[in-house]
Amino acid sequence: MPQFDFHTHSYCSDGVLSPRELVARAAAHGVTHLALTDHDELAGLGEARRAAKELGITLVSGVEISTEYAGTSVHVVGLAIDPEEARLVARLDQVRAWRLARAEEIARGLAAAGIAGALDGARHYARNPELISRTHFARYLVDAGYCASKGEVFARYMKPGKPGYVPQRWLPLGEAVALIVGAGGIAVLAHPARYEFDAPTLEGLLDEFAAAGGEAIEVVCGGHAPEEWARFGAIARRRGLLASIGSDFHAPDEGRVDLGQLPGLPASLPSVMQRLLHHA
Ligand code: AMP
Ligand code: MN
Ligand code: MN
Ligand code: MN
Repeated sequence: MPQFDFHTHSYCSDGVLSPRELVARAAAHGVTHLALTDHDELAGLGEARRAAKELGITLVSGVEISTEYAGTSVHVVGLAIDPEEARLVARLDQVRAWRLARAEEIARGLAAAGIAGALDGARHYARNPELISRTHFARYLVDAGYCASKGEVFARYMKPGKPGYVPQRWLPLGEAVALIVGAGGIAVLAHPARYEFDAPTLEGLLDEFAAAGGEAIEVVCGGHAPEEWARFGAIARRRGLLASIGSDFHAPDEGRVDLGQLPGLPASLPSVMQRLLHHA
């Protein structure tokens, strides 16, 4: 039985496993087609591809780009991209530079709230020094005893309006989609239920996404409750988008689902798998 997972992270962004360990865990859990989709970073794809070849599973080159739409950060996954495409590489370099500047500001905000040394703390958890995310701050704050869970860190410190939240400049949604398409890839709107947009804003986002060349939307994913699969399946069908599936796996002890645990996509939905076969 083929099993697909088109959204996962390694320690090249805010996951905890190396690309090789991630591929090995996916293979051990029955995943046959895996996309590594690190945030704003392509550095893990070479190692993942070598490991996938050794272990006999199919690796799809992916990325999860941090974008901005209507003042909210929206994530767009790119699948089957060319990891050497010059424009994509250059723009992701820029996003990682913005992240570094933000990390310093986050640490200043936390210091003002009485948490000293958070930048060094977060850096300790960030295997890739160019890619510091709020997740690394959250892991530090939990392990240093400031909060009981990552969820509590986000609620108390890292969400808009909280002392460790810094509005970040990301790529405009349309530019990120165009970058993915320009690198030969398929753009997928990640975890759409996460954004809490009202209906007209979500429709506007989907219009702009499609106009820029976006083709797919996550329907079954780790960040969605099961009742949201039906909701976004219906939206995919109505908008003529391909359905995608991904765990958004970061770490064995974090998140709702482990690798290989999601049910398959409903067979009646057109899926990204059919498009990916042309890229194989
Ligand atoms: P950043 O890209 O630095 O803004 O960090 C966003 C990352 O934080 C996401 O990719 C998730 O891994 C994680 N994240 C976002 N919201 C939450 C939350 N409420 N609880 C736990 N992790 C979260
Ligand atoms: Mn993440
Ligand atoms: Mn995401
Ligand atoms: Mn993700």
